[in-house]
Amino acid sequence: MRMKKTVSRKIATVCILAFLLGVSLSVPSALAADRDFVACLDRLRSQATQRGISKTTFDAHAAGIEPDLSVLELLDAQPEFKTPIWDYLAALVDDERVEDGRAMLEQWRDVLLRVEERFGVDPATVVSVWGVESNFGRSLGKRPLLISLGTLACMGRRQEYFRGEFLATLKIIDEGHIPAERLTGSWAGAFGQTQFMPSTFLQLAVDFDGDGRRDLVDSVPDSLASTANFLHRGGWRSGESWGFEVKLPPGFDASIAGRRNKHPMSTWIGRGVVRANGEPLPAGGVNHALLLPAGANGPAFLVGKNFDVIYGYNAAESYALAIAHLSDRLRGGEDFRTPWPTDDPGLSREGRRELQRLLIARGHDIGEADGMIGTKTRRAIVQEQQALGHESNGRAGQRILEALRSMAGN
Ligand code: CA
Repeated sequence: MRMKKTVSRKIATVCILAFLLGVSLSVPSALAADRDFVACLDRLRSQATQRGISKTTFDAHAAGIEPDLSVLELLDAQPEFKTPIWDYLAALVDDERVEDGRAMLEQWRDVLLRVEERFGVDPATVVSVWGVESNFGRSLGKRPLLISLGTLACMGRRQEYFRGEFLATLKIIDEGHIPAERLTGSWAGAFGQTQFMPSTFLQLAVDFDGDGRRDLVDSVPDSLASTANFLHRGGWRSGESWGFEVKLPPGFDASIAGRRNKHPMSTWIGRGVVRANGEPLPAGGVNHALLLPAGANGPAFLVGKNFDVIYGYNAAESYALAIAHLSDRLRGGEDFRTPWPTDDPGLSREGRRELQRLLIARGHDIGEADGMIGTKTRRAIVQEQQALGHESNGRAGQRILEALRSMAGN
């Protein structure tokens, strides 16, 4: 699916360009890039040795790798499309994931209870991170880690950081935790059911099934315990909730909002904030901050320390809110009371797949209906939106889905 661009392909391109331009100097420069990569790998080999990684491990798995230049494009890519928070949450916290999560809570109950006993993090929170990070172990990422990280360690603008991650990956292999061929992941090197970076693995991964290996790819107990350990070490407060949805009084001055802007509950009570169901806020307790992910006219939340701990797993408030909300849904909680400020709500993964099936039926070549909204799907949506006279933004939302449904006679 993803195209791997090797140095040899680059050389071929340069040769054609050189031919077209009538110059010959470009060919040696591409070869020089190739030589630079080999020299860089050589340096990494001695750094690996200094870190106690055996030469056998390096030579078996890292010597002779070819760079994957597509990861450099991803490193520098600007997001072409800013996802509204309601789209993000509609796909991450949909009925399907709540159902799957409840089944996982059931299936791994004993392990989760032992994990809670040892790390103090409750089953619903641990399972929510698992569900969002890797869809409960189903989506681990397919890029070979040593190739992605080897490329980023030798090319591009963050080489020093990625050198550390590359060497950490070798350490994981060298210590026998996970076989090299099982180490695949995102383009930036997050891998396994917890999507840890290799250096995070070395610091925080836990062997919980007792086989002597810390295996975040093929062991669910190790993965659940490692997630809990991450949150525990991040300062998780056992028995405390992440926060809850609230309602603001009319004319509320929203300048006090912001995740870092924590205040005692008395401040929020004084400003007329109530729980989403209209009940008064609990007096006393710990300091909370007001989160307004879509401004003062959307859902509002008071968030405590544990929200920050979740944020530490992946530094985005939308991410932390997805985990927090999914954990509430797994505990039997409902959707947010206040709707998102949009007249075109987001789609669940099933809604996205249905939209793609309708687009395919209308002759758009968008590949499989996999629920992933990529460039091809967006382009097809734009065409349909233009034909319908809708705002043509390429967004996979409720409005375009309903329009295509009714055209199909559904
Ligand atoms: Ca293990």
